[in-house]
Amino acid sequence: MASFSVHCLRASWIVLLLGFPAAWVAGSQAGGTDSRTEGQPPFMSKAAKVPPQASDDAPSPDKTGGFDGKRAFALVAKQVEFGPRPSGTPALARLQDFLQSELKSYGCPVETDSFTADTPIGRLPMKNILVKIPGEKPGIILLGTHYDTKLEHNFVGADDGGSSTALMLELARLLCPQRGRYAVWIAFFDGEEAMRQWSDTDSRYGSRELAAKLAMSGDIKKIRAFLLADIVGGGTARFPRESSSTPALVNLFWNTADRLGYPSLFPDEAFSAEDDHDSFLKRGVPAVDVIGDFTKNGYWHTAQDDLGKISPRTLAIVGHVFVESLKQLQSQ
Ligand SMILES: [Zn+2]
Repeated sequence: MASFSVHCLRASWIVLLLGFPAAWVAGSQAGGTDSRTEGQPPFMSKAAKVPPQASDDAPSPDKTGGFDGKRAFALVAKQVEFGPRPSGTPALARLQDFLQSELKSYGCPVETDSFTADTPIGRLPMKNILVKIPGEKPGIILLGTHYDTKLEHNFVGADDGGSSTALMLELARLLCPQRGRYAVWIAFFDGEEAMRQWSDTDSRYGSRELAAKLAMSGDIKKIRAFLLADIVGGGTARFPRESSSTPALVNLFWNTADRLGYPSLFPDEAFSAEDDHDSFLKRGVPAVDVIGDFTKNGYWHTAQDDLGKISPRTLAIVGHVFVESLKQLQSQ
């Protein structure tokens, strides 16, 4: 994502290399396509940095509406293992295969939409992945994330790209077996990041594509709410209210966070971000961007956005607020 002219400070703190906790086995449920041998930590190559937050106090799934923060963390680790994942790269194609096989393993109905995007660095193949969980009545609740990472040297996007994609995978695992009043669609967007300089034409390729196609088909009118997640895994994250988002949805999400006991993570403050929700806001769809304040995290769009910045606890809390906010939207 991008916003105004603020540029982040370089991370100056040192990632501590702690021993990997032997008891941490959450990732063993996830994936299934990795070829690690028994005894190796899940998804962690020998070269991978050992994340200090892996042992933090993520609340257990029975306290977070079933959302498993440690499992989501393992899914971030899995993505980081693919390396830098800009649009059109073989690494991103490998992630696309992983996302599809993972979603299918949850029993999710999965559709893909391949398209070609005209970018400042040439025409690039891109692919949106869309889960469509049917509902009982007309109407769609759309969730979304981008899964590409910014075209930067050594940029693995653990938080920017990885965290929200892991969050949506974990939500898909919970939601695909359920049937609510309204359909729930979960979009995994390609090409959110600018190839050169963020602008209306060089950014949000995937979400612009989906919004345009849904406008053509008429389905866009059925979308009751679009909940976007981006940069949601930082151990020091805070989530001010994103000011271009639809106020009623912001209130619903932040009031839910308050009620669940997370007011310090979701403060009553405002900041603004340009992101995939804009592609739907511009077409009249109510939308909210749940995004950590990247201007203050110290690693945004730098090679320091690595697995060591990710917290299973933050993922669990944000996941919990998503689960409970969705229940509210399903009851309206
Ligand atoms: Zn970004």
